[in-house]
Amino acid sequence: MYVGQQRVVKALAHAHATSRLPHALLFVGPQGCGRYSLAIRTAAAFFCTGGRFPLPCEACATCRRVFAGNHPDVLRVAREAYAIEHGWMQPEGSKRAGLVIRVDQIRELARALRLRGFEGATRVAIIKDAHLMNDNAANALLKTLEEPGDDTLIILTAPHERAVLPTIRSRCSIMRFAPLATGDVRRVLDHLGVEDAEARAAAADGSVSRALEADLSDRSARQERAGGFLDAVRHERGAALLDAVEAQGKDRDEAQRLLDDVQRTLAAQIRTKTAAGEAVPARDLALVDAIDAAREVIRENNAHVQLTLEELALLRAL
Ligand SMILES: [Zn+2]
Repeated sequence: MYVGQQRVVKALAHAHATSRLPHALLFVGPQGCGRYSLAIRTAAAFFCTGGRFPLPCEACATCRRVFAGNHPDVLRVAREAYAIEHGWMQPEGSKRAGLVIRVDQIRELARALRLRGFEGATRVAIIKDAHLMNDNAANALLKTLEEPGDDTLIILTAPHERAVLPTIRSRCSIMRFAPLATGDVRRVLDHLGVEDAEARAAAADGSVSRALEADLSDRSARQERAGGFLDAVRHERGAALLDAVEAQGKDRDEAQRLLDDVQRTLAAQIRTKTAAGEAVPARDLALVDAIDAAREVIRENNAHVQLTLEELALLRAL
């Protein structure tokens, strides 16, 4: 089931029907709004004979192979740690998995794309969280984007287009995803059989992942704490700020919750500004990225929680 993003779905359907699908697409939008879900469905839709492009039937053997990562013509790349965690790639000995997409991963993808498709003519590559490519990886991808080969589609996902190098961005057609309507989040949660779907959807600001992670307890105290942290990051300097950080999350779960709350508070403030026709300060946009990055680091590596929160706090200098 795919819910919402009707504008993007229609644009892709139209481009496909008129044989004008570009070779590279950049799906941008907030976390949990269905960028990767649509990327994998678009890939499946090339091979599925049920459904309608870009939404496949999701039930046939072909769809199941694509979703399970077993389709030879659908290639996926994500930051190393995620790819290993999800069985997309094998860990290399005792080396710690990286939090970025490395050049080797992109080179391997490029090699695979140069081979002919196995089952149909089309090959689809999905680069999840393309903003996590390091510079070498991004440069390696440029060549592939310049000469993608016929019948190749590359889909990149990122939180917003500025998060991706201009040289990459300019070679892609950008598809903008909006936060989901609360009712749509609810439908996805119901479909997944999640308890407290209504309350979770209401607390999620249009993000399915946030709804799934939402902690419904003790909201007002946490909102206050998040607001305090955000103020500290924006205004405090020096020791006072580090004290504020110190007093916040000591452990991983606590830090995740804090960042969730800060992200939600910040998103609400940005929405208010946008609705009022005011410019959103560049620092706030940088903060959105920094919080996303911090959440990833904390998810991967417990030991760095304090350090990450402190690095985030140092953003006040922006
Ligand atoms: Zn199917």
